[in-house]
Amino acid sequence: MKLIHDVAAMQQTMLQLKREGRRIAFVPTMGFLHEGHASLLREGRKRGDILALSIFVNPAQFGPHEDLERYPRNLDGDCALAEGCGADFVFAPTATGMYPPGFQTTVALGPLTKPLCGASRPGHFNGVAVVVAKLFGIVQPDVALFGRKDYQQLAIIRQMVHDLNLPVEIVGMPIVREPDGLARSSRNSYLTAEQRRQALCLYRAIKQVRELFAQGEQRVDWLLAAARSQIEAVAAATIEYLELRDGVTLQPVDRATNETLLALAVKIGATRLIDNTVLGEAL
Ligand code: AMP
Repeated sequence: MKLIHDVAAMQQTMLQLKREGRRIAFVPTMGFLHEGHASLLREGRKRGDILALSIFVNPAQFGPHEDLERYPRNLDGDCALAEGCGADFVFAPTATGMYPPGFQTTVALGPLTKPLCGASRPGHFNGVAVVVAKLFGIVQPDVALFGRKDYQQLAIIRQMVHDLNLPVEIVGMPIVREPDGLARSSRNSYLTAEQRRQALCLYRAIKQVRELFAQGEQRVDWLLAAARSQIEAVAAATIEYLELRDGVTLQPVDRATNETLLALAVKIGATRLIDNTVLGEAL
């Protein structure tokens, strides 16, 4: 496995492999890799001749009061995990390599970015879209894998790739959870032992809504009230959003159906956690 920091060197290496007819699978990440990332890498290994991942804590997608500086980093550990999953290339650029002086281009996004995380993190998805477009230009992947943990991000990237005719297949992968149900996240490392227990309220809310829906309950306000009570039972938890929306358009729904997305962002102390489920799909 090769570790490349330089943007031009990465692009040249990938272009050469493409000229040789290799199929490139790509997993973009912010590092501090865990089983969620590993599941994307293993699937990527099956889908490409070459497996590349990027590790880049992208400043453009963090707000001014967010956790850019303290976001966990562990390049050595990440390389070991990536190698164990069969990666051929780790691309770990610097912020100035990606955004040199004079950088000025943005990507204008549409209605998919308005609700949920887009409402609470203004500019976040623009930062994501720009970095993903740049990474696609550098890595030239045939297939790129993203987790459904970041459901809205996946929807926005699919839309961008479709609208801009980018020649890359986007694969969405299931959420990987801890044995007790907590969605794997690099940010889980911020949690104290007590907060780790409190964080289970997200999963409890999801399970509660899925159970009620399975019993026939379709009323949005009832389902959301049930979810809210699971979160509010934990004093340290603050709801940022808790919503049922159409799983494709992300628009509000009148009644819950199999295609409805339950999405939530909850702060446990200072740590912001997100989770989601599509009611008609396996957990
Ligand atoms: P991040 O490093 O948090 O930017 O995540 C990189 C990729 O891994 C994104 O496509 C995420 O959706 C995906 N990912 C993160 N956590 C999980 C998880 N628990 N299960 C599945 N995919 C995940």
